[in-house]
Amino acid sequence: MAERRKFKKRYCKYCESKVEYIDYKDLNALKFSLSERFKIMPRRLTGNCKKHQDMVTIAIKRARQTALIPYIVDRKNVIENPFEIIK
Ligand SMILES: [Zn+2]
Repeated sequence: MAERRKFKKRYCKYCESKVEYIDYKDLNALKFSLSERFKIMPRRLTGNCKKHQDMVTIAIKRARQTALIPYIVDRKNVIENPFEIIK
């Protein structure tokens, strides 16, 4: 079916840059998988592979505990789409 998706290409960004381990302190890597409200993006949108999505999930949850990433975002503090910042 010729269905248009929001994220056209589906490939794992972490596999492409050959990331072996995602550290919770490496926010630049985590931002690939965070929405503008710092929610974890689902795999069906980012195209991450299972291995890296699991790593990202753990890393983001750790980063939240260490206050590197907010749990919730107020309406005032919503940043632009992190996907556009890191291009
Ligand atoms: Zn991957």
